[in-house]
Parts: sequence; C-alpha cells; structure tokens
Amino acid sequence: MKKPFLTLSQVQEIKRTCPTPFHIYDERGIRENARALKAAFAWNPGFREYFAVKATPTPGILNILREEGCGVDCSSLTELMMSERCGFSGREIMFSSNETPAEEFELAAKLGAVINLDDITHVDFLHKTLGRVPETVCCRFNPGGVFTLGEGGGGFQVMDNPGEAKYGMTRPQLVQAFTRLKALGAKHFGIHAFLASNTISNEYYPALARLLFQTAADAARETGCHVAFINLSGGVGVPYRPDQPANDIAVIGEGVRRAFEEILVPAGLGDVSIFTELGRFMLAPFGHLVTTAIHEKHIYKEYIGVDACAVNLMRPAMYGAYHHITVLGKENAPEDHVYDVVGSLCENNDKFAVDRELPEIVPGDVLVIHDTGAHGFSMGYNYNGKLRSAELLLRPDGSVKLLRRAETPEDYFATLVW
Ligand SMILES: *Cc1c(COP(=O)(O)O)cnc(C)c1O
Repeated sequence: MKKPFLTLSQVQEIKRTCPTPFHIYDERGIRENARALKAAFAWNPGFREYFAVKATPTPGILNILREEGCGVDCSSLTELMMSERCGFSGREIMFSSNETPAEEFELAAKLGAVINLDDITHVDFLHKTLGRVPETVCCRFNPGGVFTLGEGGGGFQVMDNPGEAKYGMTRPQLVQAFTRLKALGAKHFGIHAFLASNTISNEYYPALARLLFQTAADAARETGCHVAFINLSGGVGVPYRPDQPANDIAVIGEGVRRAFEEILVPAGLGDVSIFTELGRFMLAPFGHLVTTAIHEKHIYKEYIGVDACAVNLMRPAMYGAYHHITVLGKENAPEDHVYDVVGSLCENNDKFAVDRELPEIVPGDVLVIHDTGAHGFSMGYNYNGKLRSAELLLRPDGSVKLLRRAETPEDYFATLVW
C-alpha cells in the first residue's frame, strides 16, 4: 500500500493559510533517498549525482540536494540561472541540452559547467560560439536500435527505442567528435547516454554501464582521448502503481561496480568517475499533489470533480500515466466505489484517474495524488487560464515551509499588452 507522508489533520492546518490544490514535498524522504544513492556509489571516489532540474525546478528543493552533495543537470537558460542563484558553480553543473541556442552554451561556459554535446555538429557550433572548446567536455551517445532488458513471461522488463530518439550521436560520430574536440584543445572527456525512461529494474543502469564502459574503452583506445567520467544520465524509475516493486539502489550501485571492475579496470580506466542525472528517482515519491473534491456527478459514469486539474499534473492526461490516489482520513475505508477523478479543464483527458476503485468520496474530502515530486509541478501550464499552484515543503520537524506561492491572476496577466 502507498502511504501518504502527511495526515488529514496536517492538511487541514495547512489549508488555513494555503488553499488546495498545492504540491508538497517531504524533506526527510528526499534526504534519506539522496543518501542511499550516495552510499550505493560510494565505491567510486568521483561519483556525483547531478539532479535533473527539469524534474523539480524549485530552489527550496535544489538547496536540499546541494546540502546532500548533489550537483545539477540543466537543459535551458533559466535552469542555469536558477542553479547559479542557488549557489551551484563550475563542475557542480552539468549542461545536457539539445538543439541548444548559442546564448545557453555561453552561460554554461561562463559558469564553468560541464557541457554535454548532443550532436557532432555542436562541436564546431560550440567552438564558434565560445572561440574555444572547454578543457572538459562530454558527448551524448545514441547506440540506435531497440534497447531491451530481461525478457520474461510478460515480455521485456525494459524496452525503449533509442533508434527513434532525437538525442545523441552515433558510434562513428562519437569517435569523430572526440578526435575533433581533442584537436581543438579538449583534454578530458565524458560519455553520456539515456536509453530508457522510468525503468523498474535493477538491471537498467548496470546494462547501460556495460555498454558505455565498453564504448569508452574502445573510444579511448581509438582516439587517445582521456575519458574522465561516464554519465549514466536519468531513467531509474519509481513504482507509480502500488503493486510494482521498487528499484533497490544499493543493488543497482553494486551492479554498476561489477561492470566497472570487469570492463573499465582491465582497460586501464579504473580512475573514471561515475555520474548520474536522476530526476524522477530523486523526487517523484517525495511529492504529493493535494486537492479537494468539490463536486460529484452521476451520469453514465461516476465522476468526482477536484480543484486540481491537468495543469497541476500533466502526466495522466499526456501519457495516461497512473498516479495512486489516497482519500485522506479514509485510508482504511473499503474501496467500494468506482470513479473517474477529474479536473475542470475543457478537455476530456483531464482525468487523474479512470475507473478507479476508491472509498466513497463526498465534496470536501481531501485527496492525495501520489508520486508527483518529479515531472509534476514542473510540467505545469496555464491552459484555460488556470494558475500554477503553490509548492510547500514538509520539514522533518513537521513544520511546513512555502517554497513557491500560488500564481495570481495578476501573474497571468503580467505579460499581456492590452
Ligand atoms: C529528463 C532527463 C534526465 C532525468 O530523467 P529522469 O527520468 O527524471 O531520471 C536526465 N538527463 C537528461 C539529459 C534528461 O533529459
């Protein structure tokens, strides 16, 4: 069973100053999880997690992760600016973007960020933009084809389609990019790849690591370049459904260590640092979207209308993603009703749940939508003139801190020319 990290009485207290809907994050959970990740890769002295800012671009969250020793992975100008204001600098920033505008490369270089190049043509674009290439630079690899793992009775454990993805360079381009960058003055190289999203398997990172370690060993031999780090990127997932098993980060770290010992150490690359760029794994389970039921409707189906909508959490509308729902105060009530839980957008995909078995819900009930800490608030938008919600932090001492106020109509109108 998925248990919310806050109670009905806590929400009632919060609602006195901050109406629903709001996103709230669990500081204790974030810190414990970040420490577990760090422990899992403690065998690698250079290890660093670069939190994918796009998952939760909120200074109050980035500051917690900085205190836990994480860097940031940015992919846009404003993410770089926010990271700088939070106190990240130099090697604490990874810049993994694609179709990158020149001004973003300029800011990344000014901050001393590690730039991860998405394409072979970006080598000369970067050189032209900066008038030089950085001493340390990373290249994004795309092996093409279909990436599969663990064929079992129900099909593959993990399956994704790098051959259809717009990201990264081919194998020959990677070697070409290294060679060209070296000629332009680069000295230390990294290799990055992101082959599958939201994997629920302890085998994804080790399999990716094997592929990248072998690629690194070959590329180092073929080009004479010094490979300084391997960036395993994001993709370690979380169990959105209550019946899914969680990944075990200690097992994942150990799997990567074994691949490291088997491939990199014999290739003379035993000093390579391992980087990760996790977003979802770092934050998703430690965020709730809290919303109040405001209407019930009985037509051909039973509907519960809530005060949040898809602008607050887009994943169900966009991907048909499952997010578990708990009705606060009714945790132990029988789930003997079947509802569509819906928001107020004039879009029929604005449904947080379809045909979901839940306890009886009446207007005024508070619902927690689980696992919204990553790619939740951050994918928000203003369709139908809807406003972005507040973001709150539940501190380990039980107090609640405002991280971002809710938008007002004035915010919505601020960019208009009347
Ligand atoms: C989105 C993204 C991540 C984070 O992915 P998660 O699935 O949230 O872990 C990491 N690196 C890059 C380049 C990304 O685009």
